[in-house]
Amino acid sequence: MLKVYPILCRAGIMDNYAYLIVDEQTKTGAIIDPSEAAPIIKKCEELQIEPKYILNTHHHFDHTDANLAIKQKYNCLVVGNIKDSHRIPGFDIGVEDGKSFAIGASKAEIIDVSAHTQGHILWYFPEDKVVFTGDTLFNLCVGGLFEGTSEEMFLALQKIKALPDDVVFYPGHEYTMHFAREAFALAPSAELAEYINRAQELLSQGLPVAPVTLGVEKKCNPYLAAKNLTELKQLL
Ligand code: FE
Ligand code: ZN
Repeated sequence: MLKVYPILCRAGIMDNYAYLIVDEQTKTGAIIDPSEAAPIIKKCEELQIEPKYILNTHHHFDHTDANLAIKQKYNCLVVGNIKDSHRIPGFDIGVEDGKSFAIGASKAEIIDVSAHTQGHILWYFPEDKVVFTGDTLFNLCVGGLFEGTSEEMFLALQKIKALPDDVVFYPGHEYTMHFAREAFALAPSAELAEYINRAQELLSQGLPVAPVTLGVEKKCNPYLAAKNLTELKQLL
């Protein structure tokens, strides 16, 4: 069993999410995308977990800036795509598409979704039905194309769409309301209205919108709902 604790970082500026994940069976902890050290250390201390790994989705500074501080404090190992070994701070262990990586008794599968950046990966835990999508998939939108093409983004989204509907996803930023109005204008539906209402309610309580199931996201996120490259290109 994997427990997931979202940690809001760079609040009000970039609204990143780092995640403390804990394999309950072995109490092994890991931090996904350490954006800012202080809130992460606070959460680790609160739960009395010393993370063993740092797992990065991609190299951008707002996901890796606290790699070295967290690594130094907890003596943990930094794991990322082997393609990013030269540009992820403190890089220790390389993973790649199709390979798996164990956090205690919990097993992650690595899915390469190069588009937002070359080398961006998903951390997918099939037994726990959880996927960490970094800056590839956000609630109701997707990440910008910094190092990739719309063709690559289409391919990346097809990989996400191929995952089961009951998998929940955790994105790299709280961007739910950024595209919500436009999404609703594009394709109004009762389900999307309910999604947006629920999101506003959670956000007003200072809570993350994640997790949402991929089944709901596939219906409500216009980028995921795009049936072909032409449709996706009109949104990007
Ligand atoms: Fe990014
Ligand atoms: Zn980011």
